[in-house]
Amino acid sequence: MIRFNVPPVAGKEMEYIKQAVESHHICGDGPFTKMCNKWIEDTTGCKKALLTTSCTHALEMAAMMCDFKDGEEVILPSYTFSSTANCFIPAGAKLVFVDVEPTTMNINPDLIEGAITDKTKAICVMHYAGVACDMDKIMDIANRHSLIVIEDAAQAVMSTYKGKPLGTIGTFGCYSFHETKNYSMGEGGALLINDPAFVEKAEILREKGTDRSKFFRGQIDKYSWRDYGSSYLPSELNAAYLWAQLEIAEEINANRLASWDKYYNALKPLADAGKIELQYHPEGCVHNAHMFFIKLKNLEERTAFIAHMKANDVLTVFHYVPLHSAPAGLKYGRFAGEDVYTTKESDRLVRLPLYYNLDKKDQQKVIDTILSFWKE
Ligand SMILES: *Cc1c(COP(=O)(O)O)cnc(C)c1O
Repeated sequence: MIRFNVPPVAGKEMEYIKQAVESHHICGDGPFTKMCNKWIEDTTGCKKALLTTSCTHALEMAAMMCDFKDGEEVILPSYTFSSTANCFIPAGAKLVFVDVEPTTMNINPDLIEGAITDKTKAICVMHYAGVACDMDKIMDIANRHSLIVIEDAAQAVMSTYKGKPLGTIGTFGCYSFHETKNYSMGEGGALLINDPAFVEKAEILREKGTDRSKFFRGQIDKYSWRDYGSSYLPSELNAAYLWAQLEIAEEINANRLASWDKYYNALKPLADAGKIELQYHPEGCVHNAHMFFIKLKNLEERTAFIAHMKANDVLTVFHYVPLHSAPAGLKYGRFAGEDVYTTKESDRLVRLPLYYNLDKKDQQKVIDTILSFWKE
């Protein structure tokens, strides 16, 4: 059976975890966490990066810092993972979903302005498959209406938009290092803060409401409970695992891109013949091969396709039941405008196995099995 995902292993994970164990520093914010934070800051240029226990938690921190007051709203796509929306519930925001662009499956920037009301406080975008949203348009709207922008860049580590790393364009960026993502620590993530005004607040929020971060830097001589907070810092054991991957991030990225290109070239004839649709990358978007998806004719064909692949020992998956039509989406949000593409396009999308060190023979088998679906 060819698995859909295999979590990345760079090679030095055990060595670094052993180091953490032997140093007797296994709680958060030790040397490995600091190296990971610095790597993110150095490679992306964000003002401050804080490793978190998940991208979900990074999103929760960002949502909390927006400081939503009674009935204030956030605009977001409906075609996304639950965490993109879920984080705004404890923060007290109302969800306003808008449609996606069928080409990228990213939020359609031209629909955002029509969804803005006098209650709108923030826009949360999600860079699907590591391909950037139209950030020039989105930042222009946000600036004209004084809105906070959160980038759910869970899938977008190492992707850029017009040369800028994703996660560094809005006020906040959120990365995921879950085992299904390009770089992993099992469960984990990072909050990227691009506006220095939020750094201290974020540190307090992450460290149980205390100014312990300042204390450890020697900036104050005792720490105390300053504000509401929780515990969003991961253990050093997880950070050690992640460090092994970040160290060879370029290699992992190149390896994934090579697999991605192989799929693309092999499936291009099917696309040219009008059987499937392939991914589209707008100008200025450099992707990170997070995902390889194709679009089939409709739900019925997709169901038959997944069954055909499975019968031949290849696991392919689909995802994202549109949030606005899910039970929690109905409870906490509304859809602004018309759902032209979100449901229709999500019904016909399917993802192929893609991970670091995907075996070439396995990949050829995936390709041959796909081709055989249209020959039968
Ligand atoms: C994976 C993912 C998340 C959640 O990441 P965790 O680290 O598992 O919390 C959030 N948003 C998107 C778009 C994702 O793909």
